[in-house]
Amino acid sequence: MIPALPPLRVTRSSHPEHAASFSTRPVIAGGVTVGGERPVVIAGPCTVESREQTLSIARACKTAGARMLRGGAFKPRTSPYSFQGMGKEGLEILAEARAETGLPIVTEVLDPRLVELVGSYADVIQVGSRSMQNFPLLTEVGRYGKPVLLKRGFGATLEEWLYAAEYVALGGNLEIIFCERGIRTFANGAYDRATLDLAAVHALRRLTPFPVIVDPSHAAGHADLVPDLAAAALSLGVDGLLIEVVQPGADRTKVKCDGEQGIVPDELASIVARAESEAALRRGLLSPVLAGSELLGTE
Ligand code: PEP
Ligand code: MN
Repeated sequence: MIPALPPLRVTRSSHPEHAASFSTRPVIAGGVTVGGERPVVIAGPCTVESREQTLSIARACKTAGARMLRGGAFKPRTSPYSFQGMGKEGLEILAEARAETGLPIVTEVLDPRLVELVGSYADVIQVGSRSMQNFPLLTEVGRYGKPVLLKRGFGATLEEWLYAAEYVALGGNLEIIFCERGIRTFANGAYDRATLDLAAVHALRRLTPFPVIVDPSHAAGHADLVPDLAAAALSLGVDGLLIEVVQPGADRTKVKCDGEQGIVPDELASIVARAESEAALRRGLLSPVLAGSELLGTE
């Protein structure tokens, strides 16, 4: 059952041109359309750790076919003793990576007082899972007006997620991208980090005309699981993926944040190919049989 909600600025009822169908109201950021015909693969390091690390991963993501670069300069860490990110210096490194690769930047803001600063560098401002119900932050990004990538709180219902987006919309900002990243369940730790709630993605797309993307990396928690979760999300027709990448041969234990879940650029390239096949399939350019065999590399 899809929850019954009163009409909201973020639900289809407020967007008559999208109300009758399940069409998407695209968000355009840095020249890239999220919610158009092609799923957008957004990739990058979990965290900006150095200029060299970020530029090298950014180049690899570009070569693999990613269309936006994502990396954190301000990190929400469970422990106050963990690396908190490079801050403004990290934003400058991201800007340099954008200048070199042409990839628009997605980066997280944690503090309402830093929305102006982060927004002056970012093409898309990320609101992370832990901040999904930071209402002053949502209000501030709503007022600021740049596209927002709103991750689902790992304990949030669909309704709470939609109301969080409504805070952004109330500020006059309708450039909202929803991102499912997994929720806490009894299974976590046994074989994943969070349970990727693909049924919520299905329901959300019926409720909102805004683009919905999926982050398989934070749900998986380990790199082996990421390609299959990405493929499952693509088969639902999501508007994009957000994927963490590590440098080939990197010592995962030395990566400052989320080292276990980053995939290498070759794996990213396979996911991009799959995203493009999925898009072609949806445009009716490929038969499912041909698309399937291409994915398996037999054609
Ligand atoms: C992240 O995207 O690096 C992140 C911290 O994710 P989440 O907010 O989904 O935990
Ligand atoms: Mn991460």
